[in-house]
Amino acid sequence: MAVLPIRITGDPVLHEVASAVTDFGPELHQLVEDMIDTMREAPGVGLAAPQVGVGRRVFVYNWTDDDDVTHSGVAINPELWLSPIAIGEADEDEESEGCLSIPGERYPLRRAPRVILRAVDLEQKPFEIAAEGWLARIFQHENDHLDGVLYADRLEHKHAKDVAKVIRKKGWGSEGNSWMPGVDHPEG
Ligand code: ZN
Repeated sequence: MAVLPIRITGDPVLHEVASAVTDFGPELHQLVEDMIDTMREAPGVGLAAPQVGVGRRVFVYNWTDDDDVTHSGVAINPELWLSPIAIGEADEDEESEGCLSIPGERYPLRRAPRVILRAVDLEQKPFEIAAEGWLARIFQHENDHLDGVLYADRLEHKHAKDVAKVIRKKGWGSEGNSWMPGVDHPEG
């Protein structure tokens, strides 16, 4: 088991478009294994490769819904189709999300209620998942990471101002900040 440090907003790899995976060899298998260990330890419901400093189009997810069904897997070179996003302000209680790269913070954000995810797995086998609700949100959040977009970049003005303040206060927003799941407790 290898837990990797998670990069914090400001680190360039989080704000760049990741490249497609072309090599499906042992290095990729190791990366995915380490990403799953890191996501579990954090803990989080999703993790994208740029968050561990690798600019490749890979994310992992692991989320258990209200019916106790666990949705987990790895998406490589994903494409995402979104249903229309409703106009209006995001609800603090129902639509707040967080990000392991902006640890300890949560802000509301409107997302598409339904998506279709198409990707390949570690064996390069294509798959498709139609998701709704929170799983759809996870897919949008993780897929954004592969385009160098953090949820903070999508927030309504008032929340964007708040998160900018937090980033300044904590000394983030520049290269080289990270935290170590199981060691650091960024909630505090
Ligand atoms: Zn994130």
